[in-house]
Amino acid sequence: MTNNKTNILIVDDRPENLLVLEGLLEQFDCNIIKAVSGNQALGLMLEYEFALVLLDIQMPEMDGFEVAEFMRGTEKTRHIPIIFVTAIYKEQKYMFHGYELGAVDYLFKPIEPVLLKSKVNVFLNLYNQAKLLEQRAYELEQKLKEVLELQAANDKLLSISTLDGLTGIPNRRSFDEYIKMSWQDAVRSGQSLAVIMIDIDYFKFYNDHYGHIKGDECLIQVAKCIHSFVKRPRDLAARYGGEEFAIILPNTNKEGAAAIAERIRENVVNLIIPHASSQAYPYITVSVGVSADYPKEGEAIELLIDQADKALYKAKQAGRNQVYAG
Ligand code: GH3
Ligand code: MG
Ligand code: MG
Repeated sequence: MTNNKTNILIVDDRPENLLVLEGLLEQFDCNIIKAVSGNQALGLMLEYEFALVLLDIQMPEMDGFEVAEFMRGTEKTRHIPIIFVTAIYKEQKYMFHGYELGAVDYLFKPIEPVLLKSKVNVFLNLYNQAKLLEQRAYELEQKLKEVLELQAANDKLLSISTLDGLTGIPNRRSFDEYIKMSWQDAVRSGQSLAVIMIDIDYFKFYNDHYGHIKGDECLIQVAKCIHSFVKRPRDLAARYGGEEFAIILPNTNKEGAAAIAERIRENVVNLIIPHASSQAYPYITVSVGVSADYPKEGEAIELLIDQADKALYKAKQAGRNQVYAG
């Protein structure tokens, strides 16, 4: 049974019957395994895989029906087809008993070789088809696994190329791409497009005073705070560079954007991150520049960003920790 051939189990308490059966089954390219008792048969079935069992009904100790009953009650043997081989029990009620157990066919002694061949053939074909299906299902499962792994790798690559490594929010590349799309959308729809520029006040001093690691932690906290204001699906908040952040707000006018900017400024103050060397306030603050426009075909996108930058500069000039809408 170490080869790759299909196994057929033949069970009969009389060795001479087993020899006859074995001879008849020789033509099939299978391993014919013999058992002289129900017990031995069950032991073999638990150990090996069988495509079919030819089962004598009348046996001492454990008869064929008992073997079948045990097989149906056990996971490993439940689905093995059985051909009962018997000289007696031709009566309907016994046959029915056999079918109830899940038996699938009968052969009567003396065995008619042609009949045996055709019945065994049917079950071997079924078995081979089931094996093939099993193999296909396995191959499909492997393919699916490969595809999912590839997809996860792609997602990871995509997120690495679109998200900022330190803060985890969209990076400058995302901002640049998204503002182009939003600009085109706004030109088409005639809606207002707003940009908010946010810059941490006296952040160089913060780094100098608290160290770069604390500086990084502070950037992460501020980024989280800013990102939490981006609630609509079409809005985008990004790390624009160093300690500067930018927000794109489609379909938003200057007043709307200024209101959001003011709330962001307040919320950064409320983070209460001590900043002993700030010239503006003893805690981390941001200055915010706001611009908004109804973009027209042919105008430069940079105009909107420039305006937000200039507004930010005005907020800085006016003393920091404030919003300027230009
Ligand atoms: P202002 O109020 O005018 O904006 O002053 P500022 O000190 O914030 O501005 P400046 O542009 O002079 O300094 C920005 C600082 O931000 C300098 C730089 O070391 C720091 N910075 C930029 N990127 C990072 C970063 O990823 N991590 C840390 N820890 N610091 C950063
Ligand atoms: Mg700054
Ligand atoms: Mg700066």
